[in-house]
Amino acid sequence: MNADDLPSLRSLLEREGLWARKSLGQHFLLDLELTRRIVRAAGDLSGKQVIEIGPGPGGLTRALLESDAAEVIAIEKDPRFVAILGELGPWSGNRLRLIEADALQVDETLLVGSAIGTPIVANLPYNVGTPLLVKWLKAGPWRGPMTLMFQLEVAERIVAAPGAEAYGRLAVLAQAVATARIVLRIPPRAFTPPPKVASAVVHLTDRSDRFADLDALERVTAAAFGQRRKMLRSSFASLAGPAAERLLDEARIAPTERAERIDVSAFCRLATVWRAAQVSS
Ligand code: SAM
Repeated sequence: MNADDLPSLRSLLEREGLWARKSLGQHFLLDLELTRRIVRAAGDLSGKQVIEIGPGPGGLTRALLESDAAEVIAIEKDPRFVAILGELGPWSGNRLRLIEADALQVDETLLVGSAIGTPIVANLPYNVGTPLLVKWLKAGPWRGPMTLMFQLEVAERIVAAPGAEAYGRLAVLAQAVATARIVLRIPPRAFTPPPKVASAVVHLTDRSDRFADLDALERVTAAAFGQRRKMLRSSFASLAGPAAERLLDEARIAPTERAERIDVSAFCRLATVWRAAQVSS
């Protein structure tokens, strides 16, 4: 199956009179070589159901359907694309399931059934990229590796190491349950219409075996990075009150340290002791 045999994406957009809507973060990838590179970065998809968010005109969807994935479940909020995406059904041997919905509201377990480790591949709408990532980081065993395009600045915040300017809540949450790396950097001119900023694809390999309580980690990192230049004994007290120093001590973190220098495993220890203190009080 070769997507080069299909009508070009540009001709379909013109035929249907479709233009990009800024409010839905629409910046399209019309170059199939580029979408194929993103799919290659996703690794082995053979025999798997794959979730794609925001297929739009279907550039990335075409490349996903060229792979050996068993099925592509594409969730799109904008109903204008249903007709041209529908044409990919027969071409792909009916391996495309199109869901017209807001991805933030979707319960993915209802889509994938009992499948475990379902890959997610998407050129995400920038306005909801971070909330979608946090939703999936918290998800259960249905969710597998993620290959996601973000604004470069957000991608850098996901992969940042302690001490880096971009290191903060998002890095800690993501790296607590995944191994994250930037696999592709993409300039604005690759998109139609071009966005103002550069983009990057981040690949996240699941490591949710390392840590489970992301809700506690969210609370702890919100307190710690809410006042990132302050010492932890002061910033963490906004959550833990007078117990702050004792809990930091239990987590083997110096109370005089600042959040930006604490590594992910230390934050996980702090979330664990904070949760235990909540349960016992
Ligand atoms: N995948 C296409 C591509 O690479 O050319 C389009 C990517 S464009 C950056 C983002 C897509 O997400 C658009 O098609 C937009 O309509 C869709 N979208 C925006 N918000 C959404 C949401 N909350 N749920 C599902 N899709 C959404």
